[in-house]
Amino acid sequence: MPEKMNDRDEAQARYVAQVRKVLSNPGWAEAIAPWLTSRCSECGQEPALDPDHVVIPPYVVVGCEGYHMVNPVALGLQDARTSSWIDWREPAE
Ligand SMILES: [Zn+2]
Repeated sequence: MPEKMNDRDEAQARYVAQVRKVLSNPGWAEAIAPWLTSRCSECGQEPALDPDHVVIPPYVVVGCEGYHMVNPVALGLQDARTSSWIDWREPAE
C-alpha cells in the first residue's frame, strides 16, 4: 500500500473540505480572500471544471500540479506543515 499517497489524498480531502466550510461563512471567508482566484497559479488558465484542477466555483483550490492554492494557516488547518501549499502570491522579485 502506498501509504504516503493515502496520507496526501487524505490531507487534500481535509483541505478541500475546509475551504468549502470557510467559504460558506462570510466572516471566515475574508481571512482567505487573498488566496481566492479563478485562475490557476501553475498553468495560468481559468480551469472551470477541468479534471486536473480542484475547483469550488469560481475558485481554483488545487492547481494542476497538485499544489494547494489557499494558505492552510489562514484556513485554520493543524497539519499546515505537511500540506503541499506554496504561496503563489509572493512577488517574483
Ligand atoms: Zn492549472
